Amino acid sequence: MDRLIAGYRAFRAGRWPQERARYAELAAQGQSPDYLVISCSDSRADPATIFSAAPGELFVIRNVAGIVPPFERDAGYHGTSAALAFAVIRLGVKHIVVLGHAQCGGIAAAIDGNLADGVPFLGNWIALLAPALARTASVATSAERHVALERDAVRLSLENLRTFPFVAQRLERGALALHGARFGIADGRLETLDAAGNFVMVE
Ligand SMILES: [Zn+2]
Repeated sequence: MDRLIAGYRAFRAGRWPQERARYAELAAQGQSPDYLVISCSDSRADPATIFSAAPGELFVIRNVAGIVPPFERDAGYHGTSAALAFAVIRLGVKHIVVLGHAQCGGIAAAIDGNLADGVPFLGNWIALLAPALARTASVATSAERHVALERDAVRLSLENLRTFPFVAQRLERGALALHGARFGIADGRLETLDAAGNFVMVE
């Protein structure tokens, strides 16, 4: 824990005094973030860092590969769906951003099933990407397919978001907007999904 305690002390000495008023307001009034970001758990793709976000600005759901599962009615442990429902229904977020990233290990495991061997739960979770895996099957090289699947996994999660009735209702009345993006680990660049379904680099 030494590294984390040292980091905490740096926070108390630096960012805490700067953000103190904001934290006090957030504590008194509760959170009301405009943005829900759904991203990968990968330690290199932190939404708060990438978007220079202050406390209270982003409600974040992170899981392997940043996947939104489809809407389901069974009584399973739907952690991602529960957080999504809370953010949309209770917090009233105005935007949902699905954020993929380069060199995603979850995406690699979807392409090469052996990578999930010996890791309980992972194979079943990654299997949610099957439709995107099928759509990118014809991509020629391994590296190109990896990137293609990182992008198409974002598109698939956006499609799955629309299967949640509380999302679909808010989209219909213009109370919510969906966005896709992908972060490049090596170059630190962000590309966003345009209206035509293509990823375009942010200048
Ligand atoms: Zn990842």
